[in-house]
Amino acid sequence: SKALKIGLLPADGIGREVIPAAQRVLESLSGPKFEFVTLDAGFEHFQKTGTALPQETIDTLKNECNGALFGAVSSPSHKVAGYSSPIVALRKHLDLYANVRPVVSVKSASTPHQKQLDMLIIRENTECLYIKSERQEVDPKTGMKVAWADRRISEYASKRIGTMAFNMALTRDKLRQQKPESERFWKHKPRVTIVHKSNVLSVTDGLFRETVRAVKEQNAEKYANVDMEEQLVDSMVYRMFREPEAFDVAVAPNLYGDIISDGAAALVGSLGVVPSANVGDNFVMGEPVHGSAPDIAGKNIANPVAAIRSAALLLEHLGYTTEALQVYGAVDKVLSEATYLTPDLGGKSTTSEVTEAILKNL
Ligand code: NAD
Ligand code: MN
Repeated sequence: SKALKIGLLPADGIGREVIPAAQRVLESLSGPKFEFVTLDAGFEHFQKTGTALPQETIDTLKNECNGALFGAVSSPSHKVAGYSSPIVALRKHLDLYANVRPVVSVKSASTPHQKQLDMLIIRENTECLYIKSERQEVDPKTGMKVAWADRRISEYASKRIGTMAFNMALTRDKLRQQKPESERFWKHKPRVTIVHKSNVLSVTDGLFRETVRAVKEQNAEKYANVDMEEQLVDSMVYRMFREPEAFDVAVAPNLYGDIISDGAAALVGSLGVVPSANVGDNFVMGEPVHGSAPDIAGKNIANPVAAIRSAALLLEHLGYTTEALQVYGAVDKVLSEATYLTPDLGGKSTTSEVTEAILKNL
């Protein structure tokens, strides 16, 4: 069969350590054949060349690649003239409208106190406050500065993210049914939790809520077996910390989705283990949830698990479920044995040692 062409965009900081680790895992699989092309992007590239996302990178992804793996970018918190985040731009260029984030705990002897959860957070990826329409002016009343931001919520984007949430709830359920009863974490009907704040933002979040609800109501037969519930975003955080086992699939507008998934990452031990996939109708890009981690970059101690799981998620969305499950299994084995763990999980192993251990278990 034809090789799958995968664009690799390590970008900044630990992205350049964890993406090669994920590449090694993909290369060692016996199923699909891969051809890799490494592409430029990121803040460091911007500092060298004045552009964070070269046109060539976009063109190669669009015209030649079946999918991509992105590392992480450093985005300075202060404004830098001419710079804007390449990941936000890529999501737009490739119309990757959903960010899919599975957050799964691993039972391990070293973390008996850890909360157990297995949830999928689906974050809208194209609008909300991330349209970055901001302005500042001087308030004539106080003579002091005032800043504004526009927040866009559309029926179109809410409908397609809602549809993805219900479809993924069914897909997860199908995979779950293939496991023996004793190994199933979730014992209920598949469930979609809609996250919003429409008690305050009745126009914007109200539209998100109504539109996602309508997805189920208008496809009553198809989603008959999927339960639907709602959580205000603040109580969502509260409940996630108290009883994370109560959630299956959660769907949220862009900003809430960003925040609750970093929070969920804390519940499974580290940002270094949580993967994501940016999904569109024609393209998929795996991406660890963490950033470029400048505090540990260049030391070979970054946890490669998030990037390796992101590669598996990429495989899953390209239709290679068997290979994806093989990778998840190898990662889970290494995490639960707890012999090779990076410092973020309380271990002493290096990025390379953890990668080797995962490769041995494939
Ligand atoms: P971060 O995710 O980079 O780091 C937060 C903390 O988690 C740090 O202590 C870091 O050492 C640790 N950590 C993260 N990933 C880890 C891994 N794989 N293994 C071990 N420890 C890990 O977030 P931050 O510090 O808020 O941001 C740093 C930079 O990354 C900023 O410039 C920010 O803009 C950028 N960022 C990028 C993305 C992205 O590319 N999608 C996401 C978040 C932050
Ligand atoms: Mn984030």
